[in-house]
Amino acid sequence: MNINYPYINEYIQKSTPQKTGLLKELETYAEKNNVPISQPETLRFIEVICSIAKPKKILEIGTAIGYSAIAIAELSSEIDIKSIEKSESMATIARENISAAKLDNQIEVITGDAKDVLSEFSDSSFDLIFMDAAKGQYLQFLPHCIRILRNGGILISDNILYQGMVATDELWVKRKCTIIRNLREYITEIMDNDKLDTSILPLGDGVAISYKKI
Ligand code: SAH
Ligand code: MG
Repeated sequence: MNINYPYINEYIQKSTPQKTGLLKELETYAEKNNVPISQPETLRFIEVICSIAKPKKILEIGTAIGYSAIAIAELSSEIDIKSIEKSESMATIARENISAAKLDNQIEVITGDAKDVLSEFSDSSFDLIFMDAAKGQYLQFLPHCIRILRNGGILISDNILYQGMVATDELWVKRKCTIIRNLREYITEIMDNDKLDTSILPLGDGVAISYKKI
């Protein structure tokens, strides 16, 4: 479901440059197999932020088939990405795609649940974190993300308006109520946290960009 007027979405999508080659193939694969990869306009936003901020050490939470990790790594050979994926089968597909893109030296897929993997990271050295997995658990991942993000680093959180349901009870679906409640709490937390400056954009499925203050 769109969170925006359909004509606005269509216009933004039509204006966003299309991917080619392997990334295009991954989009087709994702559509056929219902893999929830980033929407093209969301990915474009992340790519532009990376061009501006030039992060070198990136952490992605939620690899899926490696689509966003490959697109980001292709921006610069200086980018090093660690990407966490819970599903063994997804991680295997992602590693194959990363090899096909010849980016094995830039992207490491870590198989495991983000809440366990994140607690093992110790130093605050990530320049950028892309949160894109298990929307109901963003709140649990957040303290770790704040801890391992360097001062001056960027946290981008995807799907935070969750098909519009986060913003209004009129779209409320009972079986999604825990996710919606958790996302609302997450938004309050990233907005109110002293360490972060956050802005919400109604792009794709809703994106938040947070800056960890120096
Ligand atoms: N970032 C990807 C899309 C990720 S889709 C892209 O844009 O191309 C979300 C992924 O998160 C799914 O593959 C799912 O298996 C994974 N996931 C869900 N819960 C997780 C968790 N707790 N830890 C790590 N990965 C998780
Ligand atoms: Mg997403």
